[in-house]
Amino acid sequence: MNVDTFKNNPSIKWYFVAAIPFMLAIMATYFTMKRVVERSRQTPYQRGVYENFFQQMAAQGQTFLTATGDSGSWNTADLFWWPADSANVVGEIRGRENPEQVLVVGAHLDSWDLSEGSTDNGPGSASVLGAADTIMRSGMKPRRTIRFVLFTGEEQGLDGSFAYVKQHQSELPDHLGDLVLDEGQGPVSEFQMGGRDDLVATFQPFSKSLANIREIKVNEKVESGTDTLPFSMAGLPGINMNQDSPEYKYTHHSAADALEAVKPEVLTQNSTLMALTAFWIADRPDRFATPWPAERTAKMLRGQGQYDILKAFHLWPYGDLGAGEKPKED
Ligand SMILES: [Zn+2]
Repeated sequence: MNVDTFKNNPSIKWYFVAAIPFMLAIMATYFTMKRVVERSRQTPYQRGVYENFFQQMAAQGQTFLTATGDSGSWNTADLFWWPADSANVVGEIRGRENPEQVLVVGAHLDSWDLSEGSTDNGPGSASVLGAADTIMRSGMKPRRTIRFVLFTGEEQGLDGSFAYVKQHQSELPDHLGDLVLDEGQGPVSEFQMGGRDDLVATFQPFSKSLANIREIKVNEKVESGTDTLPFSMAGLPGINMNQDSPEYKYTHHSAADALEAVKPEVLTQNSTLMALTAFWIADRPDRFATPWPAERTAKMLRGQGQYDILKAFHLWPYGDLGAGEKPKED
């Protein structure tokens, strides 16, 4: 059977043909408006704003974060990054014999804004507060002062700890070093003595005394990725409480950095270890450490392979000091 609907009035078929683009236009408008309304209800995270930032950062490397001053041309950093006032949070337990001698116990208070910053650096900040609370509750007073510092701006380039060292320049000869926890949500596995190989033997017996809690190694490594670096650069032991945190690479600086990633029993143990370590350093009959001179520090940093990165970040203040010292193999 052959049916021709438009046999009697062929012109009517053009109404149907014309209706097709008309309906397509209506559908396109509908879906566009629907998408606009939906997007306006989304958070910046859902809209992919942060992904764009990351892609730009990956493409521009360090210049994205460090672009300052008159670069002669506009870039995204000029539009989205600007200096803001911020502050370290400081409290201390004064020493009973040598209050002028100070051990800094620290972590960083800032984090990336994708999530709660629970693992970077929530465990560190909580451990610092827990350590202070534990020592206060014990009623014991250390021979020297323990200064608890929650550093600001670590993620922008250790801003808070560099500012601390600069502000306390004249008192650094009275400092004993700093003790930092910033390696995630795992248990403490190593005390890295921030370049001070002369302190490893002194520290070993203390570390062995913690064996009932857990086995912790001691070595002379420098950790330049956290608030230990400014102290190591001042010739003091910037002691990093390294941790066994395999999940950290998935949580820190990501939207997954939320409270459920933190293990309460590990946090409690780490905070206890921080309190014990801080008290042991500050309460020793003999002073734990005095700063190394710049030349010895420069040599140590070169030996630990830190020269290139510090130079690249314009953080190498020692000029030719220690030149000729080759990075040691691990
Ligand atoms: Zn951190």
